[in-house]
Amino acid sequence: MTSVEPTFAMIKAMDHGDALASLRDEFLLPEHTIYLNGNSLGALTKKSRERVSDVVDQQWGNKLVSSWNTHHWIDLPITTGEKIAPLLGAAPGQVICCDSVSVNLFKVLTACLALMPERHILLTETGNFPTDLYVAGGLQDLVTTERCKVEAVSSATLLSALKKEVAVLLLTQVNFRSGAKHDIQALTEAAHSHGILVVWDVSHSVGVMPLELDAWGVDFAIGCGYKYLNGGPGAPAFIYANKRHLNKLQQSLQGWMGHRAPFDFSADYHPADGVTRFLTGTPAILSLASLDAAMDVFAETEVAQIHQKSIALSSLFLNLVASTPCLKDFSLESPEQASARGSQLAYSHPQAYAICRALHGRGVIADFRSPDVIRFGFSPMLLRFEDIWNSVVALSEVMEKGLFEEPELHKKLKVT
Ligand SMILES: *Cc1c(COP(=O)(O)O)cnc(C)c1O
Repeated sequence: MTSVEPTFAMIKAMDHGDALASLRDEFLLPEHTIYLNGNSLGALTKKSRERVSDVVDQQWGNKLVSSWNTHHWIDLPITTGEKIAPLLGAAPGQVICCDSVSVNLFKVLTACLALMPERHILLTETGNFPTDLYVAGGLQDLVTTERCKVEAVSSATLLSALKKEVAVLLLTQVNFRSGAKHDIQALTEAAHSHGILVVWDVSHSVGVMPLELDAWGVDFAIGCGYKYLNGGPGAPAFIYANKRHLNKLQQSLQGWMGHRAPFDFSADYHPADGVTRFLTGTPAILSLASLDAAMDVFAETEVAQIHQKSIALSSLFLNLVASTPCLKDFSLESPEQASARGSQLAYSHPQAYAICRALHGRGVIADFRSPDVIRFGFSPMLLRFEDIWNSVVALSEVMEKGLFEEPELHKKLKVT
């Protein structure tokens, strides 16, 4: 690993030299907590809290229904989408913020099938995030395998599964469990060479590494608003649709908010221009406002810098674990090379669940993924290098003192 073992003084110096250090002040964090779970639920920003209370007290409380116009609630799916667009490398007019990733994926897949009437295979990988597989399976059941046959293959055999019957390749860039990262550009090129559309799920990437969806020629992408974007629990997700497909698109969850003129209340459906046709029902304004405000924190920095710090944080964690003898039973499930992974590290250990709970008791919040993995997520905007040091110290104490052996910690909670 490292040739020189870091000391706490060296760690403090890293914090001192950190150009992003002041971004931590944008967050409301509980005391005595090291939050290594921003990859699951991003932390609360001051901007979100302020905005949500204004939306509740003033916009909703005082102005009532008129706020749809006066406070531009009706435009929020687009305006928030435009704030997300730079993080995706997307020119204006291609991103909309609405619904959950699961629902958006269904809409995007139906649009892909409509664009590819001659092809019927939906190719994905077995290790994809389960909701992506479930949505694909549900679509297959709805339209029958003649129209949409899901083929899930291992990551290693993806390239050889590309063939002329495949309509769409659906992949997640950063694997939720291992953190292993696909090369979007290379896989998109390979798929396109077979005339296949690509849908990338960037839930675990957006906000923590640069994306260039336009330059990479990606057809569609979907992603999550409550992970590294810090939109809040259940914050709306987003859809990216490359402008070359806009205006030809037909998606099956047609609803009035995607209509060209919703307030004409016409009985016939005429889709709105552009990406707006991906809307279905009324936007969840409280959640959307929270995400919209949280996006303003990104305006203060460059995602390339966030990514650099993400690599520095995760590499430090990895090196500290590797050089701590009492942690030798943790086996790394993530790629060792930083460029091959997202902003998280996964370790398997037979006692992973109880260890995770014991860590929580010591103020270090990570999460457990079935069957035996602990995930540590690194949110560069709020974490300090000293937090990484202290979390490895806490993990060492949990192991040395056997703190995970307490029977109570072995009972699974509903959300892990
Ligand atoms: C978090 C996550 C989702 C979340 O889906 P929702 O429907 O918004 O709950 C989907 N896909 C991936 C890859 C994720 O990491």
